[in-house]
Amino acid sequence: MTRITELSGAGLSPLDLALLRRSIALSDESRARGRHPFAALVADAAGHIIASAGNNSMPPEGDPTQHAELVAAAQAARVLPPEQLAGCTLYTSAEPCCMCAGAVYWTGIGRVVYALSEHKLLGLTGDHPENPTFSLPCREVFARGQRKVEVVGPVLEDEAAAPHAGFWQ
Ligand SMILES: [Zn+2]
Repeated sequence: MTRITELSGAGLSPLDLALLRRSIALSDESRARGRHPFAALVADAAGHIIASAGNNSMPPEGDPTQHAELVAAAQAARVLPPEQLAGCTLYTSAEPCCMCAGAVYWTGIGRVVYALSEHKLLGLTGDHPENPTFSLPCREVFARGQRKVEVVGPVLEDEAAAPHAGFWQ
């Protein structure tokens, strides 16, 4: 059994926190656009934002694979080579699901910083048909891969939960 380390805010710089808060603000904007309150961005090692996305999982505008993290990771992979993606971080308002953790793995992004844990999110969404949240921490997905992905989170969970207030009832 792989040991899963629960890191909270350890190792986060002020820049990390600013970028994570940016992803939370984008999740609020996503809700305001009528989408689910999730957002993510990819930034390089200097903190420059390479790509960002809000949730777009509802047809006909989007589709159920258009989670914010997957879209942001895919966009970043179209503009940066693998050696630079390895130095990038995906900041996300909620912990990546197994699909999005897969996208981080396959794009070669080296680090994930998330706010709301999947466990906490599951408590918010319950079995809502539009978001039947997995109970599968992203660290468990990454632990099965061949390439290391650093994970930091949960961080700022209360701030990240605010855009979900009243949404999933
Ligand atoms: Zn996802």
